[in-house]
Amino acid sequence: MVSISVQQPHHLLLQEDRISTPGPGEVLVEVHRAGICGSDMHILHGTNPFARYPRVLGHEMSGTVAAVGPDVTGLADGDRVVIDPVVACGQCYPCRAGRPNVCAKLEVFGVHRDGGFRDSLVVPAANALKISPMLDFGLAALAEPLSVAANVLSRTGCSDQDVVLIYGAGTVGVTVLQVAKLFGARCIVADPDAARLQRATAFGADLVLQSGSDDIPEAVSGELDGLGPSVVIDGAGVPALLGEACRVAAPAGRIGLLGFSPQPTPVVQQEIVRKELSIVGSRLNRRLLPQVIGWLEQGKLQPAAMITQTFAAADARAAFDLVEQHPEQTVKVQLSFRQ
Ligand code: MN
Repeated sequence: MVSISVQQPHHLLLQEDRISTPGPGEVLVEVHRAGICGSDMHILHGTNPFARYPRVLGHEMSGTVAAVGPDVTGLADGDRVVIDPVVACGQCYPCRAGRPNVCAKLEVFGVHRDGGFRDSLVVPAANALKISPMLDFGLAALAEPLSVAANVLSRTGCSDQDVVLIYGAGTVGVTVLQVAKLFGARCIVADPDAARLQRATAFGADLVLQSGSDDIPEAVSGELDGLGPSVVIDGAGVPALLGEACRVAAPAGRIGLLGFSPQPTPVVQQEIVRKELSIVGSRLNRRLLPQVIGWLEQGKLQPAAMITQTFAAADARAAFDLVEQHPEQTVKVQLSFRQ
């Protein structure tokens, strides 16, 4: 059994895991599946501003409760769970305002504290969310990335009245697409890569546009009776898209940002005010995992095709190499810690 950590940027270490004991209010979870995220690659490369080293990676995990600490109610040995990686203080202004994902003392498993790329880990009981025994561990480990999509659409609002333009048909783009389709919105996906656009079509995109060859503003200008899309999501993390998003959005439109670039980018104030646009950031998820788990259990979301490869945890290096060298072959690569 193994734990996968980054000792310092570019140094991935696989070592024997040790088992911890849950304290009051905590549970020990044996990890079954864990997904590799773009943000894990940033931690590996030293480009995640929040990571401290050494760090065990992993924030997209499913597993089984193996031990329950004192004062824990509602969880028992053998329960299958998904981990919410967001640990918040519960006291500060954002926590009191219902926004624990931007807690002043935010700690995220796999970023600020050791994560779930290991045989087992101890988490606060509140972060272990029970799932149906019928829900496959691989699908369950997609709940966290899907909660990121649910969060940005909760920030922008999304209903069957909306037309959603999603920049990027990578992992983030296809999760946003699936949740927006669940809400009944018409969805347009733009990406430079034709193969990724094909995948977006398979996940329900109503229209796909190839950035670089298609004129995106022109192509979406007829939406909503010539007003343009009412929701624009940057699932590509390209700051320069914000200017275009403000141009193409309908009056009363909402723009959701998920990228973490420190680069400034120009926007036109007049467009924002004239159309009364809302531009919102979205980080992690604000306690949306129970809702996403419900969607998965009820089959309302069917994201299985997102899992393009699964590696045994002992082969983690090969998994990271694949994500690194052939990102076009992957959507979500998962590590399996148990059969
Ligand atoms: Mn992630």
